[in-house]
Amino acid sequence: MAKKLFINGKFVEGSAGKVIQVTDPHTNKVFEEVSEGSVEDVRTMVEAAEKAFRGGWGTSLPHERAAFLRRIAAGIRDRLEEISRLESMNVGKPIGDSRWEVNAGAELFDYYAGAVAIFGGETLPVSRPGVDLTFRQPIGVAACITPWNYPFMMACSKVAPALAAGNSVILKPASYTPLSALALAEIVEKAELPAGVLQVVCGPGSTVGNALVEHPLVGKISFTGETTTGAELLRKSSDRIARLSLELGGKSPNIICEDADLERAASTSPLAVFGNTGQDCCARSRAFVHEKVLDEFVERFVAATKKLVIGYPLDDKTEVGPMVSRSQRQISLDYIQLGEKEGAKRVHGGEVIDTPELKDGNYLTPAVLVNVRNEMRVAQEEIFGPVLCVIPYKDEAEMIRQANHCKYGLSGSIWTRDVARALRIAKAVESGVLSVNCNNSVFNEAPFGGFKQSGIGRERGLYALEAFTEVKNVFIWVGS
Ligand code: NAD
Repeated sequence: MAKKLFINGKFVEGSAGKVIQVTDPHTNKVFEEVSEGSVEDVRTMVEAAEKAFRGGWGTSLPHERAAFLRRIAAGIRDRLEEISRLESMNVGKPIGDSRWEVNAGAELFDYYAGAVAIFGGETLPVSRPGVDLTFRQPIGVAACITPWNYPFMMACSKVAPALAAGNSVILKPASYTPLSALALAEIVEKAELPAGVLQVVCGPGSTVGNALVEHPLVGKISFTGETTTGAELLRKSSDRIARLSLELGGKSPNIICEDADLERAASTSPLAVFGNTGQDCCARSRAFVHEKVLDEFVERFVAATKKLVIGYPLDDKTEVGPMVSRSQRQISLDYIQLGEKEGAKRVHGGEVIDTPELKDGNYLTPAVLVNVRNEMRVAQEEIFGPVLCVIPYKDEAEMIRQANHCKYGLSGSIWTRDVARALRIAKAVESGVLSVNCNNSVFNEAPFGGFKQSGIGRERGLYALEAFTEVKNVFIWVGS
């Protein structure tokens, strides 16, 4: 029987009577079915969410909400192994990665349970006799729309701050990957969150996603997905001035300076672009390498890439799994071919894996393209697959100009032993999230989001609580 939607505190079938088939990227076989929601279901859910918000959740006290969030965090940890396996089967990601991400989801609920206690307004010195106060108030009904590449972690990074701030939430996962969102709904039900405070609907963006975006009672939309979809959401929600946070695509630079610790940079960077099989908005997919260290870096990088264990997602040793779908793999293959036509040279990978154990899945060996110029399409467009473009440079200023010559500005790494150079480049690169001498700077406590067409607004940290609240200013006159 198909898994049900979570509407107003109950697990029910979608009213259209349709189902979504969920496939395993390792076999391309259907292993689960999920009930599909309808536009009518969305209407019912928004009304229930509004009622829950006005019926007490919106005015509940921070410590009351924190207690629910902590129960949800504990519920996630109780089911960590089961949800991790579900996530790996659904997305194709290595089980070790899934365990890390599901645990990160629990940590997000714990973090916001604590953060909500210190998130408040200010008193401001103003030019009249009195006290000027700001309040932070929830917006109302928030729609959280998530992609398929990090389904559980993305859901938690939106739902936890949205609930902590006092909003009621409707979560819509991507159609490819609805299972972990429904597991979260079960945890929420067990945590006895009031009916309507969190609901989960599955279904296509063109129907249920669109109905959420266009509904007049949805005050806040928090979206992660493709830049083109984000632009469509901006257009559709603009008439009614809905609050919108967008986390969109990326084409991030990995900057290897001439004085970099090449051993560390080259041994850790393959997973910074090929992790999650390259299906990562932060993938460091453009390596700008100083010409003095180009050959050595490429040699070491390819050697490290060859050591990556590609295989069955549920095998503990696997570091790179299959891509989410055949069509996603085909996009990467097409881009590799395009890159070669544009003049790039493929020095490793880019091949479909057809061994007896892996041939039924969407496996692709990570591809390394050298002789790439920044203006090539393969260097400018988000491939969302395991493809690295290596772009040599001579001059730092020119390299920064090229790194910034891209419509995206999400993430990036800088490798150098010179602190002043690291800071100079970090200040100049137009990205929202940068790391120096490592490849990760995403933390629960720190802001995450993009410059330019990589998005609007910031998630995580107290920034997410800002994004899910309105600021109200109140002046109390005390003059005589
Ligand atoms: P997508 O834009 O196709 O879909 C994302 C979500 O939006 C899905 O739930 C989908 O059903 C829904 N949707 C699609 N059309 C809609 C519409 N018209 N109205 C409302 N909802 C709609 O993206 P995807 O293919 O699932 O994810 C991959 C993309 O997400 C990549 O571009 C990647 O870079 C980006 N991404 C960004 C971040 C970030 O934080 N910046 C993180 C992960 C993924």
